[in-house]
Amino acid sequence: MTKDPELSALYQKIEQNGRLSPAEGLVLLERASWLELGQLAAERRKARIGDDWASYTMFRIINYTNICSIDCAFCSFKQKPGDQRAYVLSAEEVVQKAQEAHEKGADQIFLQGGVNLELGLDYYLGLLSALKSRFGCHIRGFSPVELRDMAKAVGLPLPRLVGELKAAGLDSVPGAGAEILVERVRDLLSPNKCSPEEWAGILSECHAQGLKGSANIVFGSVETPKEVIEHLDLVRRTQDQTQGFNSFIPWTFQPQTKDFPVQKVLHHQYLKVLALCRLYLDNIDQLEVSVMVLGPEIGKLALHMGANDISSPVLEENVLRSFGVSSEEQARKLIEAAGLRPRRRDFSYRFLE
Ligand code: SF4
Repeated sequence: MTKDPELSALYQKIEQNGRLSPAEGLVLLERASWLELGQLAAERRKARIGDDWASYTMFRIINYTNICSIDCAFCSFKQKPGDQRAYVLSAEEVVQKAQEAHEKGADQIFLQGGVNLELGLDYYLGLLSALKSRFGCHIRGFSPVELRDMAKAVGLPLPRLVGELKAAGLDSVPGAGAEILVERVRDLLSPNKCSPEEWAGILSECHAQGLKGSANIVFGSVETPKEVIEHLDLVRRTQDQTQGFNSFIPWTFQPQTKDFPVQKVLHHQYLKVLALCRLYLDNIDQLEVSVMVLGPEIGKLALHMGANDISSPVLEENVLRSFGVSSEEQARKLIEAAGLRPRRRDFSYRFLE
């Protein structure tokens, strides 16, 4: 272990379960060794939730529309109304996609779209009730920016909108669209998305109405280490108030558009941030590794450096499958290859075995 006295004192504080301050988190991110942080994160995982298992879940993302008014710098998915590739799926088409997922073993649906101001409340309620009546499945959906602009477009205050969506079948919400929750970064990457305070406020309202979910960070663009810590601190403060985040997932930016500055995040740098997430977010038990982005080898290592979940195999036809985890069997094999016992769970982190 380190000979740096400041780091040594921080490691001791971590071993005694002390809460890290933002300044301490920054010292760790800038100066600690990734292996030492990984070891501390593995010990924290063992103490909090055990370390002889890892979990996965089975869901399908359905992108119900790609029309979006937000214009994030990194996004290649968005289309303008009338564009050749613009689409809005009908409720029947969404049900059809859910049926395909059901046949592949997925019992949960994740609805995610662009911010399409032309869709009315009936459209969203129709999607939810069609899925619920057909499958009775858990439905996760609608990021904070989708909810913010949906409320404006349909003319309802946010709490009423959330209540209507919940009554129609919405079960949980993602913390998607967070990227880096710092004004400077958002001004550069996604100035029209929610501000950090809006993001936290919208999710707090959802959590208060019983719609819990996840949170994430997407790094590897223009952020500084200090801004990574600011992001984690906002998530931790929100969780202190709501207890609504079941899990946290660190992602890295993937190159989508030519103009967007993606930094290459080396594998050990990803693992270091992942380990820090386990240590800094002392109020979120479940930490997921993005195997789809990093690949199975790093995924297996991450399960021994603080992470305990590999999320879901990719069940869509049109997305990256280069890492080959596209079935439940492959997800279980990956976990077993890491020397751990696979456990299937649902979006709410109820373990099904
Ligand atoms: S809000 Fe989502 S879909 Fe719209 S531009 Fe941003 S990332 Fe793309």
